[in-house]
Amino acid sequence: DNAQPRKPDWIRVKAPTSKAYFETHRIMREHKLVTVCEEAGCPNAGECWSQGHATMMIMGEICTRGCTFCNVATGKPQTLDAFEPGRVADAVSKLGLKHVVVTSVDRDDLSDGGADHFAQTIRAIRHRAPGTTIEILTPDFLHCEDGALETVVAAKPDVFNHNLETVPGLYPTVRPGARYFHSLRLLQRVKELDPTMFTKSGIMVGLGEDRQAVHQVMDDMRAAGIDFLTIGQYLQPTPKHHAVDRFVHPDEFAAYEKAAYGKGFLMVSASPLTRSSYHAGDDFARLQAA
Ligand code: SF4
Ligand code: SF4
Repeated sequence: DNAQPRKPDWIRVKAPTSKAYFETHRIMREHKLVTVCEEAGCPNAGECWSQGHATMMIMGEICTRGCTFCNVATGKPQTLDAFEPGRVADAVSKLGLKHVVVTSVDRDDLSDGGADHFAQTIRAIRHRAPGTTIEILTPDFLHCEDGALETVVAAKPDVFNHNLETVPGLYPTVRPGARYFHSLRLLQRVKELDPTMFTKSGIMVGLGEDRQAVHQVMDDMRAAGIDFLTIGQYLQPTPKHHAVDRFVHPDEFAAYEKAAYGKGFLMVSASPLTRSSYHAGDDFARLQAA
């Protein structure tokens, strides 16, 4: 039975109408950049792009993994584009961003998983837009040669984000190519390599997890020293993707947020439309000012 629960009123998507939205769109196309906002069909694009906030996805549009919640195509990826880091940096500068989020597809075909390309992108942005804080949302670098993570950390992003995506019990059906404890350990190693770097992770809810498992994930994250947390509602991109188990009520999100602050996270966003990169810049600026 593939019947889906009906979308509740609190999942509202604003239509993209502003001039600034179209300007963001133009800059992305002009620089031949891929955005996760479009690839994932993110419900916040109208709002984010109107403020110039687009999350760029580097290393192509084809992923070597096939997570069952994700709309990005799986297959044999393109060769790396050596000019992409420069184009990302140019776009960041043109958009005048205070904070940028850069993510990528997973590149199991590359021996370093794309670590060097990430590092080059960070350095290019620093050079071109020195006032912009940089958040990266990386793959898990599973099966990579030694030194991949070190390469990325050495480029000194301000925030190192890697999503756990779901509770460990759902990994076989939701994130079959990944390992929960590997991802957790990746973030712990970032802190060990550079204790001044902020680490961040997130999960989606509504995939079939129970509340106790969500609390356990938060405890695991804190044990790994993770600073920032995002929790959002899973939405099914197409009928072929993992089914929505339930729509989590906003009150439950509020309870998660409160519990997370109690567990010691520095910054938490938990709401139906929270995404890993949603309001990332505003939240980070608030934290820096505090
Ligand atoms: Fe893009 Fe993130 Fe905003 Fe969604 S929440 S539109 S992915 S920047
Ligand atoms: Fe999508 Fe990332 Fe999974 Fe690739 S690794 S399928 S881009 S969620």
